[in-house]
This record gives sequence, C-alpha cells and structure tokens, in this order.
Amino acid sequence: MAQQYTEALVNRFLRYVAIPSESVPKAKVVPSSEGQWNVAKLVAEELKAMGLQEIDIDEHACVTAYLPGNVEGAPVVGFSAHMDTVPVGLSDVVHPQVIHYEGGDVCLNAEKDLWIRVAEHPELNAYVGQDIIFTDGTSVLGADNKAGLANIMQALEILIKENRPHGDIRVAFVPDEEIGLFGSKALDLEKFKVDFAYTVDGAERGEVVIETFNAGEVRIEIDGVTAHPISAKGVMVNPLLVATDIMSHFDRLDTPEHTEGREGYFWFKTIQSTPRHATLNLNIRDFDLTQYEARKQFVRDVIKFEQVRHPKAKIEAHMEDVYGNISSFLGEDRTAIEVIYEALDELGIKAITKPMRGGTDGSALSARGLVTPNYFTGAHNFHASAEFLPIPSFTDSLAMTLKMVELLAKKRK
Ligand SMILES: [Zn+2]
Repeated sequence: MAQQYTEALVNRFLRYVAIPSESVPKAKVVPSSEGQWNVAKLVAEELKAMGLQEIDIDEHACVTAYLPGNVEGAPVVGFSAHMDTVPVGLSDVVHPQVIHYEGGDVCLNAEKDLWIRVAEHPELNAYVGQDIIFTDGTSVLGADNKAGLANIMQALEILIKENRPHGDIRVAFVPDEEIGLFGSKALDLEKFKVDFAYTVDGAERGEVVIETFNAGEVRIEIDGVTAHPISAKGVMVNPLLVATDIMSHFDRLDTPEHTEGREGYFWFKTIQSTPRHATLNLNIRDFDLTQYEARKQFVRDVIKFEQVRHPKAKIEAHMEDVYGNISSFLGEDRTAIEVIYEALDELGIKAITKPMRGGTDGSALSARGLVTPNYFTGAHNFHASAEFLPIPSFTDSLAMTLKMVELLAKKRK
C-alpha cells in the first residue's frame, strides 16, 4: 500500500474519532445520540465530494450511497460500518495519540498515571517496532467501528481516483450497533440492494467472523393473586415464587459463565416483582439454529408446565428473535465467504476465523436475508480504554477491502 494512502487512512480515522458519537442505552429514538447525526452528515458530505450517487440520510441517520460499477456482470457488493461508539462509562471525547512502540508498558496518560501493561495485554508484543494509535486512557479509541468506516471510505476514494475495476458497490453506515443493532434493523434494504455485504467491524489482523450466535430475548410476565395473610391460604399466588419455579427448570451449568466456544446458553438477566406481578427477562443464545429453536421450545414447555401447576396465575412469554447466525443464512452460493479467504491468501495474511459469542450488524442483516460476514479492522481490546490500532494492521484491513473488490470484479453472478 502506497504511503500516501496510509496517511490518508489514518487522517480520515482521526477525523472521525474526533466526533463524539457514543450511543445511549434505553434512548427511545434511533439514533440515540446527536453525535451520530454529526458523523452521518460529515460522511454524506464526503461521499458527495467523491462523486457517489443516490446519497441518502434517512430519519434514523442511516447513510446509504451507490458507486456504479465499471465492469459488467459482477456481483453487487455492500460494505457497512456503524457510526456509534460503545457507552461503557468512559469519556465520550477521544484523544488519540500515535506512539512508535518500542516494547514494554506504555504510558497513555502521565498526568493521570494511566498505563497499558504488557502483563495484562501480552498482545502488544506482536507490534514492537510499529506505529500504534492509542487512547489517552480516558476513553475507548473508537476503532470499533470508525476504523471500519474510515476503511470503507478510503477504499471508495482509491477506487475512484485510480479508476480501478469494480462492480456495483453500495455502502450503508448505521447508528446504534452497540446498544442492540438498532441501525441495521432499521436500515431500509431497498436503499442497500446488494447480493451480499460485509461489515468491517472485526478486531485483530486476519480476523474473520462468519459465525455469530442466534439470539433471542424472552420476557415472561406473571400475574399472581394478592391476599392478606389472614385469608391467604389457598388464595394467594406469589408471582415471585412462580418466577423461581420457572427458573428451577433450567440447567445451572447452561449459562454464560459455564460455557465457551460454540456452546449456547440461557441467561436470566433481570427479575422484577411486586406481590401482584413479576417480570422475568431471559436471553437465549445458540450457534446452531436447530438447537436455538429447541431452546425456545423448552422455554414454552416450561411455561406450559408451570401454568398447569399454578392455574390461578397468568403466565405469558413474549419471545423475539433479535439476530441470527450469519452462516445459518448462507445459501448454495458461497462467493461472499470464499472471496474473504481468497483475498487473505493473496495478501499473505493468516486467517483467524472465530465463532463470535455475540452479534454484529451482520447478524441482524443476515437474519433479514442479507448475508453479511465480518472482517478485521486490525484493532485490539474493543470496548476498553486499552483499545489500540496498529497502523500496519489498519493498512492491511484497507488492502483487504480493495483486494476483495478486485476479486469480485472478476466474478460473474
Ligand atoms: Zn463494532
């Protein structure tokens, strides 16, 4: 990659992280914060200056645009990134710094005595001798996902400037990924009509995510019967105890804290109760779609059983699929996945394929019928003040986008 492109990429990234855009949990609107509008407007302006077509910012601040292809018959590819940064109780303002890493612990902030220690972050050892973008220890870096945003934007600029061959390309930049994939759920797919898409929202160099959880949320509402203890016998139905009766059916080891790799789980997240009414919230996660459906059925069966046991209670379960495993939605055509590995191969980057114990915008889009795998930005330690982005890895992530576009231009639908 030419040096000037690395510089342009880094400057672009710094321009985007300078805009505070944390999402706000439990906001009633999408986007959940004003900052995301600011990112959307800046990006839309830049797309316009580059000469993209059909540039649109919708009422949820989803930005979409179209770059018509200059080769015939290639698949239409989409690229997507999210504009929010994660709210984890750190500062919303990012003060990035580029440090030439010589090894050892790094002082991020002398005044506040904030360090990133090799003992806690041995992954640093792989980057000795490189320029790395760090935080000042008071915020996340926001490489999640502004490194992805910068990557896609820089790739577009290079494609246009150098008139490189490419098929039709569409982009979608969405808000509020971090608080529930709300942007990708709200995205109007009519404005993002592609054969398949990619998110550039992965971590270390080489990381590929084609498997995520299938995820469901269950809210169980239990109406009990109140009574004074004087006359409670045979009358009172305590919804709190009905809730614990329900929970007692579940395997105590089938939980996040006892599972790893490709294992699924049930996670009872919250319980609220008065003497009259209880609400129980449960998350269901499984990589395997059949197992996931079986878990949902298990919840229904438990509730049916407990309803019979407590006929005077009223138990209702509200179940919602929140996102799906990307790989469950792959059809016969494996082009979307194959081209990732072809590109890694050609670039000499070792693939690190991980089943992700979570979801990405791609999981929401895949569940909506649009296959959307995810690949790396090059960064480490998302959602923490120890987040850092080695510039050579970041450059490789841009090279990856360009290589995939190049390979896709040679494919025929
Ligand atoms: Zn992200």
